[in-house]
Amino acid sequence: MQQLGTLYVISAPSGAGKTSLVKALLNQDQRVCVSVSHTTRDMRPGETDGKDYNFVSMADFNAMIERKHFLEYAEVFTNKYGTSRLWVEEQLQQGRDVILEIDWQGAQQIRKQMPECVSLFILPPSITELRQRLTGRGTDSEETISHRMSEALNEMRHYGEYQYLVINDDFDTALQELQAVFTARRLELTRQQQKYSTMLTELLSE
Ligand code: GDP
Ligand code: ADP
Ligand code: 5GP
Repeated sequence: MQQLGTLYVISAPSGAGKTSLVKALLNQDQRVCVSVSHTTRDMRPGETDGKDYNFVSMADFNAMIERKHFLEYAEVFTNKYGTSRLWVEEQLQQGRDVILEIDWQGAQQIRKQMPECVSLFILPPSITELRQRLTGRGTDSEETISHRMSEALNEMRHYGEYQYLVINDDFDTALQELQAVFTARRLELTRQQQKYSTMLTELLSE
């Protein structure tokens, strides 16, 4: 039987380091892929359309909502963000693990539809450090950073809705902790029984 992949939902306030952590995780783990969301926000310097996000107009985004294109969507910082339903479902069917980097509103919608998903929240060690990271990233205007900082507390208040909490203070430690969640999930009894069914049968056949 085809083993279905696991859906991972990762949220964090803007600047906490979720994109950097997920990128590092993907470099080390070929069995997992990340969903490329659609967004109405402007492209940042260094971003590529179709890779970081699928950048679309508000009119196109709204038409996609009408066509039921999205597994979930939400308004974040006055822009809309959404996850493509078909792509995610195809990956999971093929047994690949999929990461969604989405906000708390999207996470709530996913948990309702796919209660078997695994959810993680990433927090920065302090507000000062969060501001420094947003500024240091060098991709957003001062106005955008202020707006994101004021929204950060709203996002962080939802950390208790997630199964796992990672504090991104030291990057390598946070990455190891993230990897541990993926490893633990793969070692769950029913998954191991499926993966090693022949070996287990042989082992216990005498
Ligand atoms: P960054 O988090 O600072 O890199 O800024 P972004 O503009 O990339 O993302 C802003 C917020 O939108 C973050 O909280 C993301 O988790 C969230 N987000 C991104 N894609 C999606 C999506 O497809 N659905 C939902 N619901 N939220 C998303
Ligand atoms: P997010 O996707 O959550 O908005 P990013 O991954 O873009 O966050 O990270 C924001 C900035 O903080 C980036 O410049 C990144 O290099 C930096 N950063 C991420 N994690 C750490 C860390 N543990 N220590 C210091 N800087 C970090
Ligand atoms: P590729 O062309 O190599 O299959 O995909 C390129 C990138 O686009 C990959 O990172 C993949 O995740 C993403 N991608 C491809 N098709 C879709 C889609 O229908 N929806 C979303 N959200 N991402 C896609």
